[in-house]
Amino acid sequence: MVRQYRSVGAMRSHLGGSAPFRFDQILNQIADVIAQRAADRINAHVQMQDGARVFSPLKDRRLDMRCRSPRCRNRSKGPRFRYLCEEHLRLPKREQAAALQKWKQKKGA
Ligand SMILES: [Zn+2]
Repeated sequence: MVRQYRSVGAMRSHLGGSAPFRFDQILNQIADVIAQRAADRINAHVQMQDGARVFSPLKDRRLDMRCRSPRCRNRSKGPRFRYLCEEHLRLPKREQAAALQKWKQKKGA
């Protein structure tokens, strides 16, 4: 027992001394482990996303995100913005309403 302690102590002083400590080698090993874990995580994440994409209930709701203004091909900013794109949100309220009206007529609502 006593001898073992002595040898460990000797080893420690050896590492702490002038002997070249392979720190870069250890870092490389750590980096490899981290890279492997990161890759595993990314794979798991991607697989999870794929699964979520397949089973997502949002998928079927399929919001029509097109801008309600006729002939506008921009994507609207969603229901909170009356489905108008950034550009057409700047129109006067009257014109916005007209565009929405036209959209409804086209939809047959
Ligand atoms: Zn628009």
